[in-house]
Amino acid sequence: MGGAPYLTETVDIPFPQFSADGKRVNELFAKVIAQKLEDYRIKITPSQTGFTLGVKGLPAQVESPPPRSDANDPKRGPRSFAFCLSCEPEKASIAECNYEGGEEKRGPPGGLPANLRRLTASNCLLKHHPQLMTAFTDSWLDAQARPLIIVTPKRHVGGMEEMNETEIADLWCVVGSVIKQFGGSGPEPRFKEIVLNAGKFRNIAHAHVKVWFEDEPFLDQVERCWSTDERTLFEQLHELRRLMKLPREDALRKEMGGDLTNVRIFVKGTFRSHDRTELLSKFSQFGAVSSVELLGADGTEGVVVSMQHGEDAIQAIIALNLTRFGRNIMCKVKVAAGLK
Ligand SMILES: [Zn+2]
Ligand SMILES: [Zn+2]
Repeated sequence: MGGAPYLTETVDIPFPQFSADGKRVNELFAKVIAQKLEDYRIKITPSQTGFTLGVKGLPAQVESPPPRSDANDPKRGPRSFAFCLSCEPEKASIAECNYEGGEEKRGPPGGLPANLRRLTASNCLLKHHPQLMTAFTDSWLDAQARPLIIVTPKRHVGGMEEMNETEIADLWCVVGSVIKQFGGSGPEPRFKEIVLNAGKFRNIAHAHVKVWFEDEPFLDQVERCWSTDERTLFEQLHELRRLMKLPREDALRKEMGGDLTNVRIFVKGTFRSHDRTELLSKFSQFGAVSSVELLGADGTEGVVVSMQHGEDAIQAIIALNLTRFGRNIMCKVKVAAGLK
């Protein structure tokens, strides 16, 4: 059985009717609910004239979703935790809940500094922004310090179908305020996309809307408009993320298997041909480099650096993870040994 096809629908919403008017959005969501979707993803993106609202979902009568086709397929959720991260945020350690494998597999060899270990989801609540924290709705910084704000209903619900009209309208008004506050200072609200995952499409049981921004306007707002406390927190979350993604020597050695010659290092990110020289000289500090190849059209998918000795590669990987190649590019490294 191939499984039932997704239902997809796209609606165009003119500009003025979105951010200020939760009711208008309500009507659109009434349509979503009328389709009796249980597992769905709603994505709102800016368009030329306003906003495009797209819905992708499975009808309620379908018992099980189609089999997963790839690793990015979202229909796995929600993950199970002993408690709800949104309802009991003071219990939710960010290091434990947000980074699979926790500290044993990743993070700095000596463990996390105490101030970062202490961070919980409750630190991420935007307590100092009254228009983002209403009677029915909460707003949060992303625990992984990505350029997004998370908006949740205060009540524990799995999706909009469990919310009443007032709660839904309030939630979408807060989403509008979030866009005004974090979307830069231009005449039109700027955001990248708004995503609501429900049913099996979500990874966290408590309903949540993610409002994504482009890096630059978001970081600009962090710099200019946030309180010192909030900026400090954002920097701590960023540092926590960096530390939790640090490769560990033992894990890398294991990944390479027994063969520590001709190691290919995949560096994810967008590179241009002039980055090649820089990469070559950076990796050469650690040992002999056989080649640097750009992947995809023009290095848009990353590069592969081949090193002759695995131990050199391990040292390079660890050191280069501390390095940024230009703005916004974090090195994500995957290794494979013994390949040609
Ligand atoms: Zn909850
Ligand atoms: Zn999610």
